[in-house]
Amino acid sequence: MSHTTAFHGSAKEDILESLCNQFTIDDQCLFKITQTFLSEISDGLSGYGRPMAMIPTFVKGVPDGSETGTFLALDLGGTNLRVCEVTLLGDKTFSLRQQKYKVSEALKTGEVTTLFDYLADSVDAFLTDTASQGHDSHVSHPDEDSPYVPLALTFSFPVEQSALDSGVLLTWTKGFSAKNAIGKDVVKLLQDAFDRKHIHVKCVALVNDTVGALLSRAYTSGGCILGAIFGTGTNGAYVEEVSKITKLRQNPTVAAGGEMIVNTEWGGFNNSRSALPTTPYDNKLDRESINPGFQAFEKFISGMYLGEIARNVILSLIDAAPKPLLFGGRSSAVLNKQWGLDTAVLSEIEEAWECLGRFSPPGQGSPEAQKEEKLRRIQGVLAQRLELSLTDISLEDADVVRQVCNLIASRAARMSGTAVAAILVHTERARLWDHGEQSSAGLKDEGKRIGVGVDGSLVEFYPNFQTKLRASLRALVGPEVESRVDIGMAKDGSGVGAALCALVAQRQSQANHT
Ligand code: BGC
Ligand code: MG
Repeated sequence: MSHTTAFHGSAKEDILESLCNQFTIDDQCLFKITQTFLSEISDGLSGYGRPMAMIPTFVKGVPDGSETGTFLALDLGGTNLRVCEVTLLGDKTFSLRQQKYKVSEALKTGEVTTLFDYLADSVDAFLTDTASQGHDSHVSHPDEDSPYVPLALTFSFPVEQSALDSGVLLTWTKGFSAKNAIGKDVVKLLQDAFDRKHIHVKCVALVNDTVGALLSRAYTSGGCILGAIFGTGTNGAYVEEVSKITKLRQNPTVAAGGEMIVNTEWGGFNNSRSALPTTPYDNKLDRESINPGFQAFEKFISGMYLGEIARNVILSLIDAAPKPLLFGGRSSAVLNKQWGLDTAVLSEIEEAWECLGRFSPPGQGSPEAQKEEKLRRIQGVLAQRLELSLTDISLEDADVVRQVCNLIASRAARMSGTAVAAILVHTERARLWDHGEQSSAGLKDEGKRIGVGVDGSLVEFYPNFQTKLRASLRALVGPEVESRVDIGMAKDGSGVGAALCALVAQRQSQANHT
């Protein structure tokens, strides 16, 4: 945190310095986290019921861009529910039509059948719209031979899969808690809803959003080894050798050899928090969350939580004794309410400071004058988004809040780098770097591009998130390997990835019937 002279030697200075110490992750800490990651990865591959689930997805191999076909996809697990129709054009491109639907708190926390009825209704509405708008849609006109429209479900929660088209929900995350869902087969829940409503749709594949990101990035860019989400939640899926997924050895349906995508569920990494530097603000968040003790890593990183951590820090500064350190001790309804502070606000504050988005560079003038102009913008954002009175927000306050946002987001981005590094090291594409001479001799993909597909609101919109993630990755695996890591957005990954999965499912069922 850069020190502002106005606070020098004051109680404020001390508190800011202490915040800075608590939230900054030095390289040594990054290494410790990554090493712990490596051991939890191995642990998860060797058995079931481990903290990091390391779920075999039954998706073997990745596409190369030549795939074709039109599929329906249903995507649940982020901010919106989406239904889309995806056409893979076979030349690494696709076309997509989609409709978003809101998922209310009541649906997230009510009976699971009510939630799945809503999913089925949304698909029905999409198909009805398609027909009424006269789209020349393949999927909306099932024919005599196949009266059912095939659909793939992108379901972005930990699901222990037993096949491409079945798997039971292990736990809810990201604020979902619908009742009577844990332990149920989610494909069956969806299919039952379609059948109850006589909707002629068949769910043929189940896919996590990270797997979708990996598949779609492979399809559009010709190669990808890791798909990762940094959005409402966080997680990664990567291409693993079947021989290393030792818990599958008992499974008679899985042929030895070859590759399979593994959904790590790294959001649940280090639930014991032995390697994660936890602050009181994190503990408060965890304690008050619907899943205390779980999704530890995710709670440091993802969009669902960063706003809440910031809210906790800001409140502690408002309430500081003997003297308030923010807003003259005044709070607001937004700040007083759990989850009241959206991570998007942090992002806007940093945009104002970095002059991104709708914020143009400050006018000419001295550095002090430019800084003041930027702080005035932040004041404006705070007044509007926190619903505070402008007169309660000093420029110093704006500066403090900006630094708090920066600390929280930087920590998130640096931690995200450890997850990527761990996958690179685990798959023998990198070694943990000792700052000596670097050599990739003996490593996989030596000297080649390493494809990583990403998606999610943080990596897409939060200022400098990717830059900071890369800096952390560089510290961990060294500049040579880091420079070959090609991180690209997996645009519409959930839809396109689901379509690719439906295609795999179709091929497998055709193979079984011939
Ligand atoms: C879920 C993952 C998902 C991730 C990103 C996590 O909360 O457990 O399955 O991939 O969020 O959406
Ligand atoms: Mg999503």
